[in-house]
Amino acid sequence: MTRRVSIFGATGSIGQNTLDLIRRDPHAFKVVALTGGRNINALARDAKAFDAEVAVTAYNDCLPALKDALSGTGIEAASGETALLEAAERPADWIMSAIVGAAGLPPGLKALEQGTVLALANKESLVTAGPLLMETARKFGARVLPVDSEHSAVFQALQGENIDSVERVIITASGGAFRDWPIEKLASATCAQASSHPNWDMGQRITIDSASMFNKALELIETKEFFGISQDKIETVVHPESLMHALVGHVDGGLIAHVGPPDMRHAIGFALHYPDRKALPVERLDLAKIGQFTFREPDLARYPALGLARDVMETGGLSGAVFNAAKETALDGFIDGQIGFTKMAEVVADVIEIMSPQSHGNAAITLEAVTEADHMARNEARSLIDRKS
Ligand code: NDP
Ligand code: MG
Repeated sequence: MTRRVSIFGATGSIGQNTLDLIRRDPHAFKVVALTGGRNINALARDAKAFDAEVAVTAYNDCLPALKDALSGTGIEAASGETALLEAAERPADWIMSAIVGAAGLPPGLKALEQGTVLALANKESLVTAGPLLMETARKFGARVLPVDSEHSAVFQALQGENIDSVERVIITASGGAFRDWPIEKLASATCAQASSHPNWDMGQRITIDSASMFNKALELIETKEFFGISQDKIETVVHPESLMHALVGHVDGGLIAHVGPPDMRHAIGFALHYPDRKALPVERLDLAKIGQFTFREPDLARYPALGLARDVMETGGLSGAVFNAAKETALDGFIDGQIGFTKMAEVVADVIEIMSPQSHGNAAITLEAVTEADHMARNEARSLIDRKS
Protein backbone atom coordinates (compact mmCIF):
# COMPACT_ATOMS: atom_id res chain seq x y z
CA MET A 1 0.00 0.00 0.00
CA THR A 2 1.30 3.45 -0.87
CA ARG A 3 1.79 5.65 2.18
CA ARG A 4 1.24 9.39 2.03
CA VAL A 5 4.19 11.29 3.52
CA SER A 6 4.93 14.97 4.15
CA ILE A 7 8.27 16.47 5.10
CA PHE A 8 8.60 19.73 7.02
CA GLY A 9 12.12 21.07 6.62
CA ALA A 10 12.62 19.05 3.44
CA THR A 11 15.54 21.20 2.25
CA GLY A 12 17.60 20.63 5.42
CA SER A 13 19.95 17.89 6.45
CA ILE A 14 17.27 15.63 8.00
CA GLY A 15 14.82 16.43 5.19
CA GLN A 16 17.32 15.47 2.51
CA ASN A 17 18.21 12.23 4.31
CA THR A 18 14.50 11.42 4.55
CA LEU A 19 14.03 12.02 0.82
CA ASP A 20 17.07 9.85 0.14
CA LEU A 21 15.29 6.90 1.80
CA ILE A 22 11.99 7.63 0.04
CA ARG A 23 13.75 7.87 -3.31
CA ARG A 24 15.01 4.30 -2.89
CA ASP A 25 11.49 2.96 -2.44
CA PRO A 26 9.43 5.11 -4.87
CA HIS A 27 6.37 2.87 -5.09
CA ALA A 28 5.90 2.68 -1.33
CA PHE A 29 5.34 6.41 -0.84
CA LYS A 30 3.31 9.31 -2.23
CA VAL A 31 4.82 12.69 -1.29
CA VAL A 32 2.11 15.12 -0.19
CA ALA A 33 3.77 18.30 1.13
CA LEU A 34 7.39 19.44 1.12
CA THR A 35 8.36 22.57 3.02
CA GLY A 36 11.50 24.64 3.18
CA GLY A 37 12.78 28.09 3.94
CA ARG A 38 15.07 30.07 1.65
CA ASN A 39 16.51 27.23 -0.40
CA ILE A 40 13.97 27.49 -3.20
CA ASN A 41 16.14 25.65 -5.74
CA ALA A 42 16.21 22.51 -3.60
CA LEU A 43 12.54 22.80 -2.66
CA ALA A 44 11.37 23.15 -6.27
CA ARG A 45 13.78 20.46 -7.48
CA ASP A 46 12.49 17.93 -4.94
CA ALA A 47 8.83 18.92 -5.31
CA LYS A 48 9.20 18.10 -9.03
CA ALA A 49 11.31 14.98 -8.54
CA PHE A 50 8.83 13.53 -6.03
CA ASP A 51 5.73 14.97 -7.71
CA ALA A 52 4.57 16.57 -4.46
CA GLU A 53 1.04 17.94 -4.14
CA VAL A 54 2.25 21.18 -2.57
CA ALA A 55 5.53 22.97 -1.86
CA VAL A 56 5.62 25.57 0.90
CA THR A 57 8.30 28.10 1.74
CA ALA A 58 8.18 29.62 5.22
CA TYR A 59 8.98 33.05 3.79
CA ASN A 60 6.51 35.15 1.79
CA ASP A 61 9.30 36.97 -0.06
CA CYS A 62 10.42 33.60 -1.48
CA LEU A 63 7.03 32.76 -2.98
CA PRO A 64 7.49 34.43 -6.40
CA ALA A 65 10.68 32.40 -6.99
CA LEU A 66 8.93 29.18 -5.91
CA LYS A 67 5.91 29.87 -8.13
CA ASP A 68 8.22 30.60 -11.01
CA ALA A 69 10.19 27.38 -10.51
CA LEU A 70 7.01 25.29 -10.31
CA SER A 71 5.01 26.95 -13.09
CA GLY A 72 3.44 24.50 -15.48
CA THR A 73 3.99 21.51 -13.18
CA GLY A 74 0.57 21.49 -11.49
CA ILE A 75 2.31 21.49 -8.08
CA GLU A 76 0.80 24.06 -5.74
CA ALA A 77 3.13 26.71 -4.31
CA ALA A 78 2.43 28.51 -1.04
CA SER A 79 4.21 30.52 1.66
CA GLY A 80 4.09 31.67 5.25
CA GLU A 81 2.99 30.32 8.61
CA THR A 82 -0.64 29.73 7.61
CA ALA A 83 0.42 27.78 4.54
CA LEU A 84 2.68 25.62 6.74
CA LEU A 85 -0.29 24.87 9.01
CA GLU A 86 -2.48 24.06 6.01
CA ALA A 87 0.19 21.71 4.71
CA ALA A 88 0.18 19.99 8.11
CA GLU A 89 -3.57 19.45 7.77
CA ARG A 90 -3.27 17.62 4.44
CA PRO A 91 -4.02 13.98 5.10
CA ALA A 92 -0.78 12.02 5.43
CA ASP A 93 0.13 8.71 7.06
CA TRP A 94 3.58 9.86 8.15
CA ILE A 95 4.88 13.38 8.69
CA MET A 96 8.51 14.32 9.27
CA SER A 97 9.01 17.29 11.59
CA ALA A 98 12.48 18.57 10.62
CA ILE A 99 12.23 22.34 10.64
CA VAL A 100 15.06 23.74 12.77
CA GLY A 101 14.15 25.68 15.90
CA ALA A 102 10.94 26.65 17.70
CA ALA A 103 9.34 27.39 14.31
CA GLY A 104 8.80 23.62 14.03
CA LEU A 105 6.30 23.50 16.90
CA PRO A 106 3.07 24.91 15.35
CA PRO A 107 3.10 22.68 12.23
CA GLY A 108 4.03 19.67 14.38
CA LEU A 109 1.07 20.26 16.69
CA LYS A 110 -1.24 20.76 13.71
CA ALA A 111 -0.01 17.52 12.15
CA LEU A 112 -0.82 15.62 15.35
CA GLU A 113 -4.41 16.84 15.14
CA GLN A 114 -4.95 14.57 12.16
CA GLY A 115 -4.09 11.59 14.38
CA THR A 116 -1.16 10.55 12.24
CA VAL A 117 2.46 9.48 12.87
CA LEU A 118 4.81 12.38 13.55
CA ALA A 119 8.47 11.51 13.11
CA LEU A 120 10.08 14.09 15.39
CA ALA A 121 13.52 15.40 14.54
CA ASN A 122 12.57 18.88 15.78
CA LYS A 123 13.69 18.42 19.39
CA GLU A 124 12.82 22.06 20.09
CA SER A 125 9.11 21.04 20.04
CA LEU A 126 9.65 18.84 23.07
CA VAL A 127 11.95 21.29 24.82
CA THR A 128 9.58 24.22 24.46
CA ALA A 129 6.25 22.44 24.82
CA GLY A 130 6.80 18.77 25.70
CA PRO A 131 3.63 18.30 27.79
CA LEU A 132 1.49 20.06 25.15
CA LEU A 133 2.94 18.02 22.30
CA MET A 134 2.55 14.66 24.04
CA GLU A 135 -0.96 15.54 25.29
CA THR A 136 -2.02 16.62 21.79
CA ALA A 137 -0.78 13.28 20.44
CA ARG A 138 -2.77 11.40 23.08
CA LYS A 139 -5.90 13.47 22.53
CA PHE A 140 -5.95 12.89 18.77
CA GLY A 141 -4.69 9.30 18.80
CA ALA A 142 -1.48 10.29 17.01
CA ARG A 143 1.92 8.70 17.49
CA VAL A 144 5.19 10.56 18.00
CA LEU A 145 8.29 8.64 16.99
CA PRO A 146 11.73 9.95 17.94
CA VAL A 147 14.21 10.71 15.17
CA ASP A 148 17.02 12.25 17.19
CA SER A 149 19.62 9.46 17.13
CA GLU A 150 19.93 9.16 20.92
CA HIS A 151 16.18 9.07 21.43
CA SER A 152 15.65 6.60 18.63
CA ALA A 153 18.33 4.52 20.35
CA VAL A 154 16.55 4.69 23.73
CA PHE A 155 13.23 3.91 22.04
CA GLN A 156 14.76 0.88 20.34
CA ALA A 157 16.45 -0.30 23.55
CA LEU A 158 13.07 -0.06 25.29
CA GLN A 159 11.22 -2.29 22.80
CA GLY A 160 9.60 -5.10 24.77
CA GLU A 161 10.75 -3.63 28.10
CA ASN A 162 8.72 -2.27 30.97
CA ILE A 163 9.44 1.44 31.46
CA ASP A 164 8.89 0.97 35.22
CA SER A 165 12.01 -1.19 35.42
CA VAL A 166 14.17 1.58 33.98
CA GLU A 167 16.68 2.87 36.50
CA ARG A 168 18.65 5.20 34.23
CA VAL A 169 18.89 6.40 30.67
CA ILE A 170 22.30 7.42 29.36
CA ILE A 171 22.56 9.45 26.17
CA THR A 172 26.00 9.80 24.69
CA ALA A 173 27.65 12.98 23.41
CA SER A 174 30.45 13.28 20.89
CA GLY A 175 31.84 16.31 22.71
CA GLY A 176 31.70 18.32 19.47
CA ALA A 177 34.36 20.27 17.65
CA PHE A 178 36.18 21.57 20.76
CA ARG A 179 36.20 18.55 23.04
CA ASP A 180 40.02 18.44 23.07
CA TRP A 181 40.68 22.18 22.96
CA PRO A 182 42.28 23.93 25.94
CA ILE A 183 39.35 25.50 27.76
CA GLU A 184 40.95 29.00 27.68
CA LYS A 185 40.85 28.92 23.87
CA LEU A 186 37.06 28.47 23.67
CA ALA A 187 36.31 32.19 24.06
CA SER A 188 38.08 32.90 20.77
CA ALA A 189 36.61 29.96 18.80
CA THR A 190 35.25 31.09 15.43
CA CYS A 191 31.96 30.19 13.79
CA ALA A 192 33.79 28.26 11.05
CA GLN A 193 35.65 26.21 13.66
CA ALA A 194 32.43 25.46 15.57
CA SER A 195 30.62 24.50 12.36
CA SER A 196 32.62 21.36 11.70
CA HIS A 197 31.61 18.18 13.53
CA PRO A 198 34.10 15.37 14.15
CA ASN A 199 31.60 12.56 13.37
CA TRP A 200 28.19 13.72 12.14
CA ASP A 201 27.24 15.64 8.99
CA MET A 202 24.34 17.89 10.10
CA GLY A 203 22.88 21.36 9.64
CA GLN A 204 25.07 24.26 10.78
CA ARG A 205 23.00 25.24 13.82
CA ILE A 206 22.95 21.79 15.44
CA THR A 207 26.65 21.38 14.63
CA ILE A 208 27.52 24.54 16.59
CA ASP A 209 25.14 23.38 19.33
CA SER A 210 27.15 20.17 19.49
CA ALA A 211 30.37 22.10 20.08
CA SER A 212 28.76 24.01 22.97
CA MET A 213 26.71 20.96 24.03
CA PHE A 214 23.58 23.07 23.89
CA ASN A 215 22.44 20.24 21.65
CA LYS A 216 22.98 17.69 24.44
CA ALA A 217 21.27 20.07 26.86
CA LEU A 218 18.21 20.13 24.59
CA GLU A 219 18.40 16.34 24.33
CA LEU A 220 18.41 15.82 28.11
CA ILE A 221 15.16 17.80 28.29
CA GLU A 222 13.87 15.95 25.21
CA THR A 223 14.52 12.62 26.98
CA LYS A 224 12.57 13.71 30.03
CA GLU A 225 9.61 14.94 27.99
CA PHE A 226 9.43 12.12 25.46
CA PHE A 227 9.90 9.15 27.77
CA GLY A 228 8.37 10.72 30.88
CA ILE A 229 11.45 9.81 32.94
CA SER A 230 12.48 11.95 35.90
CA GLN A 231 15.59 14.07 35.45
CA ASP A 232 17.61 12.27 38.13
CA LYS A 233 17.49 9.11 36.00
CA ILE A 234 18.88 10.83 32.88
CA GLU A 235 22.63 10.98 32.34
CA THR A 236 25.03 11.91 29.59
CA VAL A 237 28.54 10.70 28.92
CA VAL A 238 31.09 11.83 26.34
CA HIS A 239 31.71 9.08 23.81
CA PRO A 240 34.03 10.50 21.14
CA GLU A 241 33.45 7.69 18.61
CA SER A 242 29.67 8.45 18.30
CA LEU A 243 28.87 4.78 17.73
CA MET A 244 26.98 3.96 20.91
CA HIS A 245 24.05 6.36 20.87
CA ALA A 246 22.30 5.59 24.15
CA LEU A 247 22.01 3.00 26.90
CA VAL A 248 19.04 2.02 29.04
CA GLY A 249 19.84 0.72 32.52
CA HIS A 250 17.35 -1.52 34.34
CA VAL A 251 16.80 -2.16 38.05
CA ASP A 252 18.65 -5.48 37.74
CA GLY A 253 21.85 -3.62 36.77
CA GLY A 254 21.74 -4.60 33.09
CA LEU A 255 22.48 -1.96 30.45
CA ILE A 256 21.02 -2.28 26.98
CA ALA A 257 22.99 -0.23 24.46
CA HIS A 258 22.17 0.82 20.93
CA VAL A 259 25.16 0.83 18.57
CA GLY A 260 25.28 1.96 14.95
CA PRO A 261 27.13 4.17 12.48
CA PRO A 262 26.75 7.96 12.79
CA ASP A 263 24.25 8.16 9.93
CA MET A 264 20.84 9.75 10.54
CA ARG A 265 19.28 7.52 7.90
CA HIS A 266 19.21 4.76 10.51
CA ALA A 267 16.99 6.69 12.95
CA ILE A 268 14.92 8.21 10.14
CA GLY A 269 14.49 4.80 8.49
CA PHE A 270 13.54 3.19 11.79
CA ALA A 271 10.77 5.79 12.23
CA LEU A 272 9.74 5.52 8.58
CA HIS A 273 9.22 1.76 8.69
CA TYR A 274 8.18 1.34 12.33
CA PRO A 275 7.05 -1.12 13.64
CA ASP A 276 8.78 -3.09 10.88
CA ARG A 277 12.50 -3.06 10.21
CA LYS A 278 13.63 -2.69 6.62
CA ALA A 279 17.12 -2.85 5.10
CA LEU A 280 18.76 0.57 5.24
CA PRO A 281 21.70 1.91 3.23
CA VAL A 282 23.94 2.54 6.25
CA GLU A 283 27.44 1.26 6.91
CA ARG A 284 27.72 -2.04 8.80
CA LEU A 285 30.18 -1.64 11.68
CA ASP A 286 33.31 -3.78 11.81
CA LEU A 287 33.78 -4.00 15.57
CA ALA A 288 37.22 -5.63 15.45
CA LYS A 289 38.44 -2.80 13.24
CA ILE A 290 36.91 -0.18 15.56
CA GLY A 291 38.72 -1.84 18.46
CA GLN A 292 37.34 0.15 21.37
CA PHE A 293 34.57 2.38 22.63
CA THR A 294 35.72 5.09 25.00
CA PHE A 295 33.78 7.21 27.48
CA ARG A 296 34.53 10.24 29.63
CA GLU A 297 32.73 12.37 32.16
CA PRO A 298 31.45 15.62 30.59
CA ASP A 299 33.29 18.62 32.01
CA LEU A 300 30.65 21.09 33.25
CA ALA A 301 33.10 24.01 33.08
CA ARG A 302 33.65 23.30 29.38
CA TYR A 303 29.94 22.67 28.78
CA PRO A 304 27.90 25.02 31.02
CA ALA A 305 24.82 24.29 28.87
CA LEU A 306 24.49 20.94 30.65
CA GLY A 307 24.08 22.62 34.03
CA LEU A 308 21.48 24.98 32.56
CA ALA A 309 19.52 22.00 31.21
CA ARG A 310 19.42 20.53 34.73
CA ASP A 311 17.91 23.81 36.02
CA VAL A 312 15.32 23.77 33.25
CA MET A 313 14.32 20.17 33.97
CA GLU A 314 14.01 21.04 37.65
CA THR A 315 11.85 24.11 36.99
CA GLY A 316 9.62 22.76 34.21
CA GLY A 317 6.78 25.07 33.14
CA LEU A 318 7.80 27.53 30.47
CA SER A 319 11.51 27.37 31.32
CA GLY A 320 12.18 25.09 28.33
CA ALA A 321 10.64 27.66 25.98
CA VAL A 322 12.72 30.42 27.57
CA PHE A 323 15.89 28.32 27.47
CA ASN A 324 15.43 27.37 23.83
CA ALA A 325 14.53 30.89 22.65
CA ALA A 326 17.50 32.40 24.49
CA LYS A 327 19.75 29.70 23.02
CA GLU A 328 18.48 30.29 19.46
CA THR A 329 19.04 34.04 19.81
CA ALA A 330 22.49 33.61 21.35
CA LEU A 331 23.37 31.23 18.51
CA ASP A 332 22.26 33.86 15.96
CA GLY A 333 24.49 36.35 17.80
CA PHE A 334 27.45 33.98 17.57
CA ILE A 335 26.85 33.16 13.90
CA ASP A 336 26.53 36.90 13.12
CA GLY A 337 29.81 37.60 14.93
CA GLN A 338 28.19 39.74 17.65
CA ILE A 339 29.25 37.57 20.60
CA GLY A 340 31.98 35.02 21.24
CA PHE A 341 31.46 31.28 21.65
CA THR A 342 31.48 31.21 25.47
CA LYS A 343 29.17 34.23 25.69
CA MET A 344 26.29 32.12 24.36
CA ALA A 345 25.91 30.24 27.66
CA GLU A 346 26.23 33.50 29.62
CA VAL A 347 23.39 35.06 27.65
CA VAL A 348 21.17 32.00 28.14
CA ALA A 349 21.91 31.84 31.89
CA ASP A 350 21.09 35.55 32.27
CA VAL A 351 17.80 35.24 30.35
CA ILE A 352 16.75 32.24 32.47
CA GLU A 353 17.47 34.29 35.59
CA ILE A 354 15.63 37.40 34.35
CA MET A 355 12.61 35.40 33.25
CA SER A 356 12.34 33.05 36.21
CA PRO A 357 9.11 34.71 37.50
CA GLN A 358 7.36 33.98 34.17
CA SER A 359 8.70 30.48 33.62
CA HIS A 360 7.93 28.75 36.94
CA GLY A 361 6.63 25.18 36.93
CA ASN A 362 2.96 26.05 37.42
CA ALA A 363 2.73 28.04 34.19
CA ALA A 364 0.23 26.50 31.76
CA ILE A 365 1.85 25.11 28.61
CA THR A 366 -0.37 26.36 25.81
CA LEU A 367 0.87 27.34 22.37
CA GLU A 368 0.02 30.97 23.19
CA ALA A 369 1.96 30.90 26.48
CA VAL A 370 4.93 29.19 24.84
CA THR A 371 4.93 31.72 22.00
CA GLU A 372 4.77 34.64 24.42
CA ALA A 373 7.59 33.25 26.61
CA ASP A 374 9.60 32.60 23.45
CA HIS A 375 9.19 36.21 22.24
CA MET A 376 10.03 37.69 25.62
CA ALA A 377 13.13 35.53 25.98
CA ARG A 378 14.30 36.49 22.47
CA ASN A 379 13.90 40.18 23.31
CA GLU A 380 15.80 39.79 26.58
CA ALA A 381 18.55 37.83 24.84
CA ARG A 382 18.81 40.42 22.06
CA SER A 383 19.24 43.30 24.46
CA LEU A 384 21.88 41.36 26.43
CA ILE A 385 23.72 40.58 23.18
CA ASP A 386 23.59 44.23 22.12
CA ARG A 387 25.13 45.18 25.46
CA LYS A 388 27.83 42.50 25.24
CA SER A 389 28.85 43.18 21.63
P1 NDP B 1 18.93 22.33 8.65
O1 NDP B 1 19.36 23.69 9.05
O2 NDP B 1 19.80 21.51 7.79
O3 NDP B 1 17.47 22.40 7.98
C1 NDP B 1 16.44 23.11 8.57
C2 NDP B 1 15.20 23.09 7.73
O4 NDP B 1 14.23 23.99 8.30
C3 NDP B 1 15.41 23.57 6.31
O5 NDP B 1 14.48 22.95 5.48
C4 NDP B 1 15.14 25.07 6.43
O6 NDP B 1 14.83 25.68 5.18
C5 NDP B 1 13.94 25.04 7.34
N1 NDP B 1 13.74 26.26 8.10
C6 NDP B 1 14.69 27.05 8.66
N2 NDP B 1 14.11 28.07 9.34
C7 NDP B 1 12.77 27.90 9.21
C8 NDP B 1 11.64 28.65 9.68
N3 NDP B 1 11.76 29.74 10.43
N4 NDP B 1 10.40 28.18 9.37
C9 NDP B 1 10.25 27.07 8.60
N5 NDP B 1 11.28 26.36 8.12
C10 NDP B 1 12.52 26.76 8.42
O7 NDP B 1 18.61 21.57 10.03
P2 NDP B 1 18.78 20.02 10.36
O8 NDP B 1 18.18 19.18 9.28
O9 NDP B 1 20.16 19.77 10.80
O10 NDP B 1 17.89 19.90 11.68
C11 NDP B 1 16.47 19.90 11.63
C12 NDP B 1 15.93 19.53 13.00
O11 NDP B 1 16.33 18.19 13.28
C13 NDP B 1 16.48 20.38 14.14
O12 NDP B 1 15.49 20.51 15.11
C14 NDP B 1 17.63 19.55 14.68
O13 NDP B 1 17.90 19.80 16.03
C15 NDP B 1 17.08 18.14 14.48
N6 NDP B 1 18.10 17.11 14.35
C16 NDP B 1 18.99 17.14 13.32
C17 NDP B 1 19.96 16.16 13.19
C18 NDP B 1 20.87 16.15 12.00
O14 NDP B 1 21.59 15.17 11.81
N7 NDP B 1 20.92 17.16 11.17
C19 NDP B 1 20.10 15.10 14.19
C20 NDP B 1 19.09 15.12 15.20
C21 NDP B 1 18.14 16.10 15.29
P3 NDP B 1 15.96 26.31 4.20
O15 NDP B 1 17.23 25.54 4.41
O16 NDP B 1 15.34 26.11 2.84
O17 NDP B 1 16.10 27.75 4.56
MG1 MG C 1 21.03 13.83 18.76
